[in-house]
Amino acid sequence: MPLMRKLSPRQLFRLSLLSLLWCPTLNADNLTSLGQRPDWDSLDAYQQTITRAAFVSQLDVLYAPGQAWQETITIEDQHALIRTREGEAPYRLEFAPSEAAAMPPPRRWRKPAEALVPDAELPLTGWHIALDPGHIGGAYGPMEGRSWRIGAGPLVQEGDLVLVVAYDLKEELEALGATVTLVREQNAPITTETPESLRDEAESWLRRMGNTEPSPLQIQRTAERLFYRSSEIRARAERVNKRIHPDLILCLHLNATDFADYSNPEPVEPNHLHLLVNGAYSAQELAYDDVRYGMLIKLLSGTAEVEAAVASELAETMAEQTGLPAFSYGGPNAVAIAGEPYVWGRNLAANRLYACPVVFLEPYVANSRAVYPRIATELEAEQMPIPGGILEEYTHSVVDGLRASASQARASKE
Ligand SMILES: [Zn+2]
Repeated sequence: MPLMRKLSPRQLFRLSLLSLLWCPTLNADNLTSLGQRPDWDSLDAYQQTITRAAFVSQLDVLYAPGQAWQETITIEDQHALIRTREGEAPYRLEFAPSEAAAMPPPRRWRKPAEALVPDAELPLTGWHIALDPGHIGGAYGPMEGRSWRIGAGPLVQEGDLVLVVAYDLKEELEALGATVTLVREQNAPITTETPESLRDEAESWLRRMGNTEPSPLQIQRTAERLFYRSSEIRARAERVNKRIHPDLILCLHLNATDFADYSNPEPVEPNHLHLLVNGAYSAQELAYDDVRYGMLIKLLSGTAEVEAAVASELAETMAEQTGLPAFSYGGPNAVAIAGEPYVWGRNLAANRLYACPVVFLEPYVANSRAVYPRIATELEAEQMPIPGGILEEYTHSVVDGLRASASQARASKE
């Protein structure tokens, strides 16, 4: 810093302007909020692990349909050129010449057929499943927008209810031999950040998004979203990828839909079920370096095969046991999975950042005419889940789906 001290403020100002002109790539990172700059060289581990046909087909069908990938990835005969940091050379990924010659991709997780112990007494022995109860709940429910009440009824919070399901599910799955880890064990955040500690980040994010004069309320709301969504999911991903190392993650949610009138909320009509696998990245999302890198890691590590197989079995048992119809997305943010009316592909922070197969469960519309009375009964009981109640139904439908998934995996190995 000695040079700086000798300069007047005017000289410093000129210097900062000059540095902008001299170094056009100075701020060339294009990252999402709290996103990390990718280590593109780490893709070296995936050289020659996939054929050209398989790579293109996965992009077109699942990860980036509608040619969303074409602005950032160029496909040549024997390799793909992937945009890296702005102003830097593209990353060159060599294709495997054939399926038979493809190298196995590196991964820490195991496919069900690899994880499950053959001839074990209990059907899920060997499988390490992490359960991620969605949202934070507790005191954070209102901030997350996952907290509501109808009239004088009980307070309904998605984060609280799915944590009950997670504990119940853990017990049931362990009784079948699985190793089960909860990503969140209480209604409290995993991240050590707070909305207060993220205020500067929120303000600079708003400015980057073109809001040159953000109001204090806009900054507060953005800081809260950075806290309960971006920072919290990143902290969970850190825990999953560095400490838990599961073979599969189930993200547990309970859907709800907008009330017609929030000043006088009344139960709504729609009630449905859907499951999510990772996919449907848009061109705008892929323009972010960290998102593009995240998608490539998902694609190259081969999580899609397991996500599809597990989601298919879970969809069947969950649809059968809940009796719910399939939810349908209308917009381009989701891609339909062929032959699976209940399963959709979406790019969410959690199913992109968790480095293993991830399936999101979105059963029930909690504020619907059919479901709300059952939820209220749970909440008014002395202890959740109540026998024969909706949370137990949720748990059992998942347990049976995983059992079916395990027997399908065992059958495929024979
Ligand atoms: Zn949710």
